[in-house]
Amino acid sequence: MSLPSEVDVAIIGAGAAGLGAARALETSNLSTIVIEARYRIGGRAFTIVASSSDSPTAVPNITFDLGCGWLHSADRNSFVRIAEQLDFEIDKTRPPWREQGFDAVFPPKERADFIEALDDFYDRAEVAAKSGRDSAASACLKSGNRWNPMIDAISTYVNGAELDRVSILDMDAYEDTGINWRVRRGFGLLVLTYGAPCPRAVNTKVTLIDHSGKRLRIETSQGTLIAGKAIVTVPTNLIADESIRFHPALPAKVDAARGLPLGLADKVMLALDRPDTLPKDGSLRGATMRTAMGSFHLRPFGQACIEGFFGGRFARELEDAGGGALAAQAIDEIVALLGSDFRQRLKPLAGSRWAHDPFARGSYSHALPGHAGARAVLAAPVDGRLFFAGEATSPNFFSTAHGARDSGERAAREVVAVNL
Ligand SMILES: Cc1cc2nc3c(=O)[nH]c(=O)nc-3n(C[C@H](O)[C@H](O)[C@H](O)COP(=O)(O)OP(=O)(O)OC[C@H]3O[C@@H](n4cnc5c(N)ncnc54)[C@H](O)[C@@H]3O)c2cc1C
Repeated sequence: MSLPSEVDVAIIGAGAAGLGAARALETSNLSTIVIEARYRIGGRAFTIVASSSDSPTAVPNITFDLGCGWLHSADRNSFVRIAEQLDFEIDKTRPPWREQGFDAVFPPKERADFIEALDDFYDRAEVAAKSGRDSAASACLKSGNRWNPMIDAISTYVNGAELDRVSILDMDAYEDTGINWRVRRGFGLLVLTYGAPCPRAVNTKVTLIDHSGKRLRIETSQGTLIAGKAIVTVPTNLIADESIRFHPALPAKVDAARGLPLGLADKVMLALDRPDTLPKDGSLRGATMRTAMGSFHLRPFGQACIEGFFGGRFARELEDAGGGALAAQAIDEIVALLGSDFRQRLKPLAGSRWAHDPFARGSYSHALPGHAGARAVLAAPVDGRLFFAGEATSPNFFSTAHGARDSGERAAREVVAVNL
């Protein structure tokens, strides 16, 4: 669809939030358009089918979510109902995060010690948050504890950042019900299918939202659009560095976005020869006593592959090192743990580079210490005409796809309320 010249509600960004807003406005009698800079909808929800023609053995097609993969807090996750309605099979296999496939690599006694230290850290963080004073979550690490680097590694996966950059109040606000499911055909494909009915203009980058006049003037790479209202759902890093601008400027929004940077998490998919020697849906950590290491999901859904996950500063170093560095690191770590024959048995298929993606510039938001209140500031409407959604605006499910979708629905309700 090409860009219309006028619309009631312009929705900027076709990720889970923008699509959630558009779907919620379907019955409102307001005309809408979702404006998306990329060639595709889904944003940080993106499923690919990874395959390799020059593999040592025939590699079957592998479902690979480059972005969101888990239906976190599945008992409260709005995408579960949507998956059921759209006939997407849900896999309820428990995630292997707290397990380890190989006792020799990380002996059970050591594992139990680590889990105890991790739980103790979360307990201390919960108590500290009750004071209402914000600080860096790293303050809750027990001084001298040998597991601290590994607890920090978990933070790089969960927050995309080390604990010294994570607000304790924000971390405490996240609601984790402990139930995590997956979508067999891919979470990205689910979001794409959910958004398919939305009117949209792709390959259309918004550069400026001029709200100085009676109607909004939205400048894009495909021309100018006049709109009554706008719902802005782009990732915080793009608001923070003013890749999308407002006139008059909105310094409170820019400050809030700067307090909610996107951390970094990257995934790499490796084809696995002779898969039957490894457990289905197993887990492996690249090392035990350091922060800079990968975490590996062995044979997700029983497929002939290993999915590697890297986070925080280490992921950024690997991205900066160029294409192939993530896969090379993953293979080195797996070979060091499981033996040299894995060098021949593993073959890189695909990987993400979210920090280098111009329309994401990171993976998911975390609040910097002292900035837990920024989510509410970012979410607040301006002047009854500009509305804000996106995962970073969710008070309790930030950093997730369902949090993003629900925030889009919330912004749509705000639009309808001022139109009544
Ligand atoms: C590696 C990784 C793993 C993850 N794992 C999970 C998980 O297991 N479970 C989970 O729930 N979540 C997970 N997430 C997070 C989840 O993917 C995101 O929180 C969610 O998809 C964000 O949706 P959104 O709509 O807020 O933003 P986005 O999906 O980023 O959508 C914003 C859209 O705006 C577009 N845009 C940007 N700038 C412009 C512009 N100037 N003009 C027009 N359009 C623009 C972008 O192209 C994008 O499509 C993961 C993310 C990553 C990267």
